[in-house]
Amino acid sequence: MHKPQTIRPVTEVIEARTQREGGGFVVRRPFPTAALSYIDPFLLIDEMGPAEYGPGEAVGAPDHPHRGFETVTYMLEGEFEHEDSAGHRGTLLPGDVQWMTAGAGIVHSEMPSERIRREGGRIHGFQIWINLPASDKMKPPRYQERSSAEIPVAKTADGLAQVRVMAGKALGVSAVISTHVPMTMQDWTLQAGADASVETRDDERFMVYVFAGALKTGDQDSVIRDGQLARLGDGDVVRLRHAGSGPARALLLGGRPLNEPVARYGPFVMNTESELRQAFADYQSGAMGRIARTATLG
Ligand code: MN
Repeated sequence: MHKPQTIRPVTEVIEARTQREGGGFVVRRPFPTAALSYIDPFLLIDEMGPAEYGPGEAVGAPDHPHRGFETVTYMLEGEFEHEDSAGHRGTLLPGDVQWMTAGAGIVHSEMPSERIRREGGRIHGFQIWINLPASDKMKPPRYQERSSAEIPVAKTADGLAQVRVMAGKALGVSAVISTHVPMTMQDWTLQAGADASVETRDDERFMVYVFAGALKTGDQDSVIRDGQLARLGDGDVVRLRHAGSGPARALLLGGRPLNEPVARYGPFVMNTESELRQAFADYQSGAMGRIARTATLG
């Protein structure tokens, strides 16, 4: 006998809050909030924009440090430029993914491209923070940067559901980015009539964040709308069905919980308060480096 697969149920629906980050950057953020500081191993989900900036209006995050976790930047529209204390620099275009392991520490800047700052333009994307196991927090920094064309894509047989697989597996396709614990990060686009199922590992916990349109998920076909995050419970598969009108877009996120203490403050995420104090001391003493810039004349 074949055991029927159980669909992961919706256990909680969280509304993302729209807020302005330092410098006036508009984000939609399901967490962290005063009520929910993290969903292990995810520490933060920020949907950047969509925002339309005029000439001279676009703002970003100039030089700042990180230690103890990973930041994932996924662009949907617009361009971001980054550079860091290890000498990396580059531009992220729509569909590109930068999976940065801050590890023991890095100083970087993340800014809309010079062209968008000068001429204005549209910015839409995600920044997601993922915690590292205690044993990996002080490892050397690492980058995994993948262009849009390098991200595996799959469709259901009827073509109505498409997925871009940044982490994990879906519809027979596996990610090219490697993670420290088993993880899932997928960008789903559902057209009217789409009905997709993703087989999931037992040790990961899952959530779905809808950022356009609406979809149904869970064993009760709960409707999850633009700007809502659905936390899912135990089961064998995640089922995603189109709802409403117009295409639905959603991130499917999953990860194996670390189940370790979290001490976080600003750009540092460690296990204890004394490790946090050490992170500040190391940053202030210059041990995380600084971004070397070539002076330009004129
Ligand atoms: Mn950063």
